[in-house]
Amino acid sequence: MKFTTESLRPFGSVVRIGHAGRTRRSRPTAAIGVPALLLSALALAACGSDAPPEETVSAETGMREQPAAEPLPDAAAVAERLADYAPFTLTADLGDLGDDQRRMIGLLIDASKIMDDLFWRQAWGDGHEEWLADLPAGPVRRFARINYGPWDRLADDRPFVTGVRPKPAGASFYPPDMTVEEFEAWDQPGKDGLYSLVRRDAAGDLELIPYHEAWAGELGRAAELLREAATLAQDEGFARYLGLRADALVTDDYQPSDMAWLDMKTNRIDVVIGAVETYEDQLFGYRAAYESFVLLKDMAWSDRLSRFTAFLPELQRGLPVPERYKAEEPGSDSDLNAYDALYYAGDANAGAKTIAINLPNDEEVQLAKGTRRLQLKNAMRAKFEKIMQPIAEVLIVEEQQDHVTFDAFFANTMFHEVAHGLGIKNTVDGSGTVRAALKDVASSIEEGKADVLGLYMITELHERGELGDTELMDYYTTFLAGIFRSVRFGASSAHGKANMVRFNFFADEGAFTTDETTGRYRVDFEAMQAAITKLSAKILTLQGDGDYEGAKTFTDTLGVIRPELADALARVNAADIPVDVRFEQGREVLGL
Ligand SMILES: [Zn+2]
Repeated sequence: MKFTTESLRPFGSVVRIGHAGRTRRSRPTAAIGVPALLLSALALAACGSDAPPEETVSAETGMREQPAAEPLPDAAAVAERLADYAPFTLTADLGDLGDDQRRMIGLLIDASKIMDDLFWRQAWGDGHEEWLADLPAGPVRRFARINYGPWDRLADDRPFVTGVRPKPAGASFYPPDMTVEEFEAWDQPGKDGLYSLVRRDAAGDLELIPYHEAWAGELGRAAELLREAATLAQDEGFARYLGLRADALVTDDYQPSDMAWLDMKTNRIDVVIGAVETYEDQLFGYRAAYESFVLLKDMAWSDRLSRFTAFLPELQRGLPVPERYKAEEPGSDSDLNAYDALYYAGDANAGAKTIAINLPNDEEVQLAKGTRRLQLKNAMRAKFEKIMQPIAEVLIVEEQQDHVTFDAFFANTMFHEVAHGLGIKNTVDGSGTVRAALKDVASSIEEGKADVLGLYMITELHERGELGDTELMDYYTTFLAGIFRSVRFGASSAHGKANMVRFNFFADEGAFTTDETTGRYRVDFEAMQAAITKLSAKILTLQGDGDYEGAKTFTDTLGVIRPELADALARVNAADIPVDVRFEQGREVLGL
């Protein structure tokens, strides 16, 4: 799965936000049978498992129900929506890569463009280039490219082009006139599979067409490109994966390549390519959409992470709670790394941009090999620079703004992920898991734990001289700024609520204070440290005790936006800060 924002978390990384995001580690089984699962780009974040909002879909046609009389936005309004996506050039340092590796990246980008074309067909239908050419040049056409169709992905798929139908919940995976009833009555094995289209045959009956038959030519070409790339690969494991992935594209059998992907550990270049996520099928959540990420692993972060992970046992023993609340061995069940993204295509590039990924989705592969979490560093930097920093400029006191840094933002994100390994998974009375005991508040408490223990880890490692020449104040101030970003869209969602709990707890402890003249916020270093200790103890105790009532009360009393903060957020909303980013990307910007 993937993540676009870290709304659950005060600092950043992500949900479609990766492990920084929702922790649904498997195919969205919960969505199956639910008429529509709208994974709102903005609510999608973070490591929580809160259900996304549903939207109204007609049971008759599977069409989204939209007010008939709502006027279309005019060109000026579309231009404004376009401005909500700040442009960002997607590059990374390829300086030390040899010619073969650079050629290989070029081939992976070429294969990705085929995924982009196939995603257009899944989301909108055939003939998109002709359709785009007919649109007025300028903002409308550019906005259509960002949205892969005439529906605004950040506004409930509202149409922004004259004469188009509402977006079918099943996108173009199903015939537009198919009813849910007809599908359900259809006696067809494999109709709920990941890799097929539903179409009508000459007699008007439903038929199932596997992707590898529907798009044999395109997928064959993409497979050839991957095989050619494999001959250039330096890393043996990566070459093997590329060969198997090529096979997957032309057979729709992804499992061997998913296994091979988890087996490889030393490759610096990576690619996630093929039919992967099922969010685009909002009718049933069955069908996978084509996408691609071409990636370059950040080797420095990989080294740092393995060094930090070695401190987990020592940090576990140092947690500010009695022995029984930290009796388990800390650990991590999946591999976590940082990457720079070199190219996004298809589903990955539509609307809000993914900043973290947790794959594969195949539960059999997960059981055999675990999962991999990929944090996309330059994509996070894009959101940091274009969205979070401008928010900090409105809400953080001037003399502390230099403490809001990307390095701290990224470190906070990574430590959040690692901190999930601290604490305990079972209640101290031995009656079962913390997750089972805390029921509906389990996820938000667990995310709160990872947030605050991430700060605890940073504080401890900084004291041991492990964080180099950085200031603790950077991490704390950036943490505060991250909360503002996450609650920008309100505290009504479970994610927003979880963030408010953190914010209000720290505010009540005096860790943040408000400047009376400017209404901006200031971090108090000493009070912040004391609050980190106190909140860590509070959450670890609620978890260890399996105290559902206590956890619920804690969440409900603190999970509110108080008037003073509401005023501050209104100032942010008045400041015309972008809501997401779009990438300028490709061979040219990479110099390939
Ligand atoms: Zn998390």
